[in-house]
Amino acid sequence: MITIKTTCTRCGAIKLTGYDVSLQLRPNGREGHYRFTCPTCAQSRLRPANARVVNVLLAIGVSVEIDDPDPITELEIMTFVAALEAEPDPFRLLAG
Ligand SMILES: [Zn+2]
Repeated sequence: MITIKTTCTRCGAIKLTGYDVSLQLRPNGREGHYRFTCPTCAQSRLRPANARVVNVLLAIGVSVEIDDPDPITELEIMTFVAALEAEPDPFRLLAG
C-alpha cells in the first residue's frame, strides 16, 4: 500500500494510506481539495490539491468527487435565512 505524506494542522507531519483519503475536484477536474481523517488526532482535515497532487492521488486510486459547479443558489440562502429568523432555536435546524 502506498503511503502519502502530508501534514495535519494540529499534529504536523503524518502518513496516510490511499484508503484514508478522498479527493474533491473542481468541475475543471485539474485541482481541488483532498480530505482525510488524521490517524493521530482523528480530526477530519481538508487540504488544497494542486494539479500535481491530484495526479498522484488519482494514480493511487483514491475515491473522487466532483464539486457541484453551482453549490448554493440565492434562493436557498434566502430560504435558509428566513428559516433561521422563524426558528426560536436555530441549533435545532442543524440537528435536523
Ligand atoms: Zn492530527
